[in-house]
Amino acid sequence: MIELRTFPGLFVGRRTVLQADEAPRDSEGPAYACGACRQELVRADRTFFNDVVVKCRCGEFNQL
Ligand SMILES: [Zn+2]
Repeated sequence: MIELRTFPGLFVGRRTVLQADEAPRDSEGPAYACGACRQELVRADRTFFNDVVVKCRCGEFNQL
């Protein structure tokens, strides 16, 4: 499992914020976990993170 980096919501910028519940989990890619609570958030190819940030249920914003 790869841990993501958390960052302040202030810096989301133009990226799309995806809620943890909307994130893909069924892909063949590696699993990524929230950098704060280490819950699994996404299973996807790394290109998925090019313009997306994932907001975990714990409230933290995560990026690769
Ligand atoms: Zn979390």
